[in-house]
Amino acid sequence: MKRLKDKTAIVTGSTSGIGEATARLFAEEGAKVIIAGRRREKGEQIAVEIRKDGGEAIFIQADMTQEEDIQKLVNSSIEAFGKIDILVNNAGRIIEKPFIELTREDWDQFVALDAFSYFRMMQLVLPHMERQGSGNIVNVTSLAAISVMPTHALYSFVKAGITHMSKVVAAEYADKGIRVNCLLPGVVYTEMIADNPNTPHMEKIIPMGRMSTSEEQAKSILFLASEDSSYMTGTSMVADGGIRGI
Ligand code: NAD
Repeated sequence: MKRLKDKTAIVTGSTSGIGEATARLFAEEGAKVIIAGRRREKGEQIAVEIRKDGGEAIFIQADMTQEEDIQKLVNSSIEAFGKIDILVNNAGRIIEKPFIELTREDWDQFVALDAFSYFRMMQLVLPHMERQGSGNIVNVTSLAAISVMPTHALYSFVKAGITHMSKVVAAEYADKGIRVNCLLPGVVYTEMIADNPNTPHMEKIIPMGRMSTSEEQAKSILFLASEDSSYMTGTSMVADGGIRGI
């Protein structure tokens, strides 16, 4: 039995990395997937490949820093599939700078994507989920939400804020059939970190001795988004190869 049969899922930032792997896995598990991102060609291509494999997927172009695009994404998803069962907030970027060098522009740009888009997406899908009496939100934050890494002040601030906000939203909606959980990935080999000169050194500090693949993170997201985690809400689930234990 497919775990997401008859479910409709929006995955933001799903033209690469963890989001792409999640969109593909969700489709394999029977979900109708809305691939949301800025890169039209890439997004359309992923949707075509999913459909070729017998799944259901559409691409909706959205810059997740733009209010109009966020609203359009939710409205178009409802128009296409009639409901939203699952939201995976995932679109993000990383910012690494010594604390003293962070600028107002960094703040505005980073908060707009990694905080505002998660916040507004939840606000827009929750009324639909409440009307249908069920829903599931997975917010992909980061191990940075609960760990301390120099040069990650703004990144950690936003990821910690979303992680804690998710717990409050989970509590507000727990009696309405809606669950809200966070996945906190450790180091995942994606476009986000591929060019970072520190990336090759990261493996040395990971007890499992390797970075995560996007597919491994997608499996954790599927767990949180499916009935396999039916009694979990307000959780911060970590998938970090053991770093937190150091
Ligand atoms: P990625 O760069 O492959 O994915 C991020 C996606 O967000 C990309 O598809 C990108 O195009 C999209 N995006 C960026 N700005 C956008 C915008 N304005 N509008 C719409 N889409 C936009 O990297 P990833 O590692 O798959 O990151 C996914 C999530 O995982 C992020 O929230 C990130 O903070 C988190 N995360 C990643 C790691 C890691 O080590 N890679 C670790 C912890 C958490």
